[in-house]
Amino acid sequence: MGYVISPPPVVTLPVLGTDDTFPVRRIYCIGRNYAEHAIEMGHDPSKEPPFFFQKNPDNLLVEGQDFPFPPKSKDVHFEIELVVALKSGGANIPVDRALDHVFGYAIGLDMTRRDLQGEAKKLGRPWEIGKAFEHSAPCGPIHPVSKVGHPASGAIWLEVNGEMRQKGDVNQMIWKVPEMISYLSEYFVLAPGDLIMSGTPAGVGAVKAGDRLRGHVDGVGDLNVSVV
Ligand code: MN
Repeated sequence: MGYVISPPPVVTLPVLGTDDTFPVRRIYCIGRNYAEHAIEMGHDPSKEPPFFFQKNPDNLLVEGQDFPFPPKSKDVHFEIELVVALKSGGANIPVDRALDHVFGYAIGLDMTRRDLQGEAKKLGRPWEIGKAFEHSAPCGPIHPVSKVGHPASGAIWLEVNGEMRQKGDVNQMIWKVPEMISYLSEYFVLAPGDLIMSGTPAGVGAVKAGDRLRGHVDGVGDLNVSVV
């Protein structure tokens, strides 16, 4: 028995300090998880239940590749985010056990066709067209917990062409990493290889071809991506 077409390749991220790679199963993204970003998007940041959308594993862009400005949009935004990589999963994970499932952390960009997302919001339609397009998830190498622990506080920022555009602290997350894992696991069965993009601080903005993005999270290093 064979395949009738070639199976798609396994999508992987590099793991810092090893030649082995991390195979990616799903990408969950949490929305409006920093109060000031919720406000800049016109929402009340009081602690409502978190909400999620997904990107596709093959939307990942590994560091070293350029981000091609996508079609059908005139307003493509950067969103710098801490990415959580799971080594195990399950359903109904209690908050106090949630961090046991984390393999490591990376820096990611939740690139967004803001104009298309805005239309979708207005019409009550799903967000995929604004969020889950090709190369929409640039991501750096995974830093294993064994090396970096669990970054519960520390600067998260993004520079565009050397100018600071987004700046926050991961301790400003409304829903902390253990809470988002626990909450997600009530609705989905989490599994090894899942990534969670944990939301972005304030300051999101548009990119254009030629821009150089440099993201940073304390303890998780830098992510460099060029827009072409
Ligand atoms: Mn985001």
